[in-house]
Amino acid sequence: MIKPHLSQNYLTLPNCFYSHVSPEPMQNSQLVSVNQLLKDKLNINLSDESLLDLCSGQLQTFNCQPIAQKYTGHQFGYYNPQLGDGRGLLLGQWIDQTNTAWDFHLKGAGRTPYSRSGDGRAVLRSTIREYLASEALAGLGVPTTRALALATSTEQVRREIMEPRATLLRVTQSHIRFGHFQYAASVGPDELEVLINFVINKHFPQWANLTYIEQAQNLLNDICIKTAKMIAKWQAIGFNHGVMNTDNFSILGETFDYGPFAFFDDFNSDYICNHSDTEGRYAYDQQAKIGVWNCQVLAGSFADILEEEEINTALNHYVITYNQHYISEMLLKLGINSLQENDKDLIGDLVGLLNKYQLDYHQFFRLLGQVNNEQSDLYNMLPTPGDFKGWFENLNERVKQEEGSFTDWQQRILDNNPSIVLRNYIAQMIIEQAEKGNFDPLNEWLTALQSPFKEHQHLHQYQQAPSLTNKGLSLSCSS
Ligand code: AMP
Ligand code: MG
Repeated sequence: MIKPHLSQNYLTLPNCFYSHVSPEPMQNSQLVSVNQLLKDKLNINLSDESLLDLCSGQLQTFNCQPIAQKYTGHQFGYYNPQLGDGRGLLLGQWIDQTNTAWDFHLKGAGRTPYSRSGDGRAVLRSTIREYLASEALAGLGVPTTRALALATSTEQVRREIMEPRATLLRVTQSHIRFGHFQYAASVGPDELEVLINFVINKHFPQWANLTYIEQAQNLLNDICIKTAKMIAKWQAIGFNHGVMNTDNFSILGETFDYGPFAFFDDFNSDYICNHSDTEGRYAYDQQAKIGVWNCQVLAGSFADILEEEEINTALNHYVITYNQHYISEMLLKLGINSLQENDKDLIGDLVGLLNKYQLDYHQFFRLLGQVNNEQSDLYNMLPTPGDFKGWFENLNERVKQEEGSFTDWQQRILDNNPSIVLRNYIAQMIIEQAEKGNFDPLNEWLTALQSPFKEHQHLHQYQQAPSLTNKGLSLSCSS
């Protein structure tokens, strides 16, 4: 039988960028979920048995050379030179039918030279959260890594309590982080040049004939723009990442490394989803600013190649792109396709009201798309409807300038605002079931989150705003 092959293009880099590591196999393992949608998209013809082998680190039937990547990065504002894949291995690349290479990365694969004091393992709780959240963001049209499969075992891992071990097979076109550039620049100009060449050849072959300086400038511009677009989308969908360290930022502008993230329940601009983040460095309303801060750190790695003015140009691209995209994403949520001069105020006023009354963010838009008279559910959710009167009048005037009927407008709102959201209490319910061996809610939610704008009748009870005890759950970094 021919062994399924995963190539390993990362090996063309100097060996300071990685270490060869074999996974610590996971005992008594069991496949919890396979992401059929992603499997079909990439035309991955691997059986469940093969996927379980990959997830449990049984690589004998595979032709692959797993590695742990070396990188550094800023964590909570401080540079840490000791980072790298501490509990994940890049197994190699799957080449799809369009000849695109997809990294297969096994998260929770065991210790590596970069594990420091960690055990190299992942627990079921955190892998479920990443698995579902990445599908949720993909479903909402936000760039993100995804995962092909999730497996667990009877092995227990020590966290605050003992928890079931699990692994996640993460898939994306690149596992190169901002921190890779920080690391390369810290090693030397030659290593940085090799990394830039690698990234250009792999992801931007159209720039292959440009000068080195032009390549570096294009690359930095592109990363700044993509990062700004991603964060504009986070803000619009009401997503708080929680650990925006530069080692958790992908150079492709994809949401990367899910930890204590949260989707809003009630809108609260100061919301901090990570309860270890005591200063609120990564609070919801800091995300856009931290995005540019991270780009600035990245740009620091290019400081010997680019002039200050060129770096400022890239950072300006971030600011301009973010501002434009935030407005257009928010307008889409309001069912508005075009952009007019006062739209920024319309959005700013709405955000002010949502924040003042801390209304359920998702429910507000969903009900706006269903409003039909004064007795509607939307008006019932407003504590003082009078305070919203002026805003609704402005919205009505604005909507009149859009094409189509009132019904068309409402349909656009429903098409752009999810009926179901992976709120933290829901993720918690799914995790508790999974820890008891019931993976049905997980798989049911996986499918639902892949089409979040549709009504999902069987999940109807989750389409309401959560009860007081279920609201605003914040989590620690522990994973
Ligand atoms: P994170 O906060 O998950 O992005 O992780 C930050 C760094 O710690 C990365 O270099 C991880 O590889 C490493 N790390 C996180 N958890 C573990 C663990 N259980 N064992 C070893 N390394 C870990
Ligand atoms: Mg990380």
